[in-house]
Amino acid sequence: MYMGISIKSADELAAMRQVGRVVHHTLEACKAAVRPGVTTAELDQLALETWSKWGAQGLFKNYPSYEPGKGFPGNTCISVNDEVVHGIPGERILRDGDIVSIDCGLRLGGWCGDSAITVAVGNPSPQAQKLIQVAYETLQMAIELIRPGRRWTDIAKPMQHHVESNGFSCVREFVGHGIGRRMHEEPKVPNFCSRELERFGDFYLRSGMTLAVEPMVIAGQHDVVVLDDGWTVLSKDSTPAAHVEHTVAVTANGCSVLTDGT
Ligand code: MG
Ligand code: MG
Repeated sequence: MYMGISIKSADELAAMRQVGRVVHHTLEACKAAVRPGVTTAELDQLALETWSKWGAQGLFKNYPSYEPGKGFPGNTCISVNDEVVHGIPGERILRDGDIVSIDCGLRLGGWCGDSAITVAVGNPSPQAQKLIQVAYETLQMAIELIRPGRRWTDIAKPMQHHVESNGFSCVREFVGHGIGRRMHEEPKVPNFCSRELERFGDFYLRSGMTLAVEPMVIAGQHDVVVLDDGWTVLSKDSTPAAHVEHTVAVTANGCSVLTDGT
């Protein structure tokens, strides 16, 4: 442990890469199935069937809510258009031009992996395409900047700048997280910076830390609202959002992505 953040050995990182591979294969299967006419429940079922073949367990189903009795009902989180994160899979039919984010968290061999993709359905608008592209660029930017000795805010600042210089905004209320034996561990891993974060929420990266980095990018303003279902997070201004995520390890000289299928 370092400042409350667990440090993994090489063997533990190898085990985390194993679950990361299953997360990757699950998301690849879902991505291949995204097309106009498919329901989000069908994608959710496909995800469950895919990871079950590998003996992995989903981490989202029945995840406790702040509201008692409202555990998460889905196997995955599937968020469409103005849904930012934590969308509940159901009978919603994907239509041409939608953008859909699929978030998958699994445990295998006692270790967790967490990753999300955002894909376009059919032919998206140029704005939706750009939004997805910027979300992936922001995640890639973090991956390239992560190395031991850097402060997290040294990475969050350029991530935020990339998003905002493209005319989009970064969600404040939801952030990435440490991950390991549990899906949500210390520290909090925001995709933006503030004076408060610099003073009270910052941490130094150290080799063996494992983080779920997950930029949530809204085309309009950064404010979000939560639906009455207790889960679905929407952009307040109803503009579309993209959410992408990888579980990564800080290595001796950089960063290694654990959920890219390698
Ligand atoms: Mg996730
Ligand atoms: Mg996560």
